[in-house]
Amino acid sequence: MPDVILVTGGRGLVGNAIRHVLDTEPPNTRYGRRDGETWVFVGSRDADLRDAAATKALFEKYKPTHVVHLAALVGGLFMNMKYKLSMLRDNIHINDNVLHTSYTTGVQKLVSCLSTCVFPDGITPPLREDKIHLGPPHDSNFGYAHAKRLVDIANRAYKEEFGCNFTAAIPTNIYGPHDNYDLEDSHVIPGLIHKCYLAKKNNTPFVVAGSGKPLRQFVFSRDLAKMFIWQLREYNDVEPIIFSVGEDDDVSIRYVAEQIVKAFDFKGETKFDTSKSDGQYRKPASNEKLLRLVRETSKDNEQFKFTPFEQGLKESVDWFIANYDQARVGKRA
Ligand code: NAP
Ligand code: GDP
Repeated sequence: MPDVILVTGGRGLVGNAIRHVLDTEPPNTRYGRRDGETWVFVGSRDADLRDAAATKALFEKYKPTHVVHLAALVGGLFMNMKYKLSMLRDNIHINDNVLHTSYTTGVQKLVSCLSTCVFPDGITPPLREDKIHLGPPHDSNFGYAHAKRLVDIANRAYKEEFGCNFTAAIPTNIYGPHDNYDLEDSHVIPGLIHKCYLAKKNNTPFVVAGSGKPLRQFVFSRDLAKMFIWQLREYNDVEPIIFSVGEDDDVSIRYVAEQIVKAFDFKGETKFDTSKSDGQYRKPASNEKLLRLVRETSKDNEQFKFTPFEQGLKESVDWFIANYDQARVGKRA
């Protein structure tokens, strides 16, 4: 019997990146498709995972042996600030349905997706996997953060009570093709890509929210996809793993804006709207555990190679320009 790997949230930013990596890496390699594996990518039109019966029906249809659980109500700083209860409730329901159905249907391995938002605010840097539950998360996203934290709690409880092989990844800020480019609710990179596109088209200023000073670790979705494929195949521990570039490889929002301007060859004015929130100033996360494990499980002590930020960003901008008509842009301007 082949392994059936169900990817929930499979039609979003990360799901599309996993599909891309499987399709472009040579078959039967570390990150390519392997004989004996069937990958199924599903989105919300396949099943509303907030609904227990719909989740059960989805699992009955595909009979997954493995699950990569990406589906979530997800957005950037401003969406998290506006919809705290929805971010809490929708994600609690989605996660409980996916985890419990995975248990009841005998899924052999489940990898869920958290976020560095789960970490306590103001904790001594760097963020490490063992610091998740040491204090309350930042106020701007406490709904989403608590829902995601509970996945780690549930993974441990499913393991202790039922022996399940459930674990999780903790990515930093992700960007790449197929993102959500909504002007208000998206994360910073897709939001700014869309804003710069419109500024160039309409000959208006390019407006960046906040001071531009906060720092973020950005991970290219196709690099992250490799990490998920590796974790699914080669990692069997409940302890989550941070998926990120190095903690010193964070860049300022101002630098992000400058690189987007460069990628678009935008000649107009860039403005910083300091009436808008900066959110957390910095949340440096350590990727030491990830790099060590990927290296130790490789054939010849191979290091994980990250796509340079400037290259990943240029590819993302070019993808957006080429796919504007199909891209998720929210209300079309
Ligand atoms: P995304 O592009 O918005 O994709 C989210 C996916 O979840 C979509 O496929 C969406 O379905 C699906 N989904 C949402 N609500 C659903 C529901 N009620 N039932 C079924 N499916 C539902 O997000 P992403 O950036 O790829 O996020 C993937 C994972 O990474 C999430 O768990 C997120 O929390 C996490 N994460 C993201 C970031 C980031 O910077 N983007 C950072 C850290 C962690 P449709 O395609 O049908 O809409
Ligand atoms: P975070 O990394 O979880 O905080 O989420 P975001 O991806 O939303 O990044 C938020 C940071 O980018 C804050 O410092 C915002 O002030 C800044 N930022 C600048 N312009 C934008 C924008 O258009 N959208 C978003 N979401 N953030 C922006």
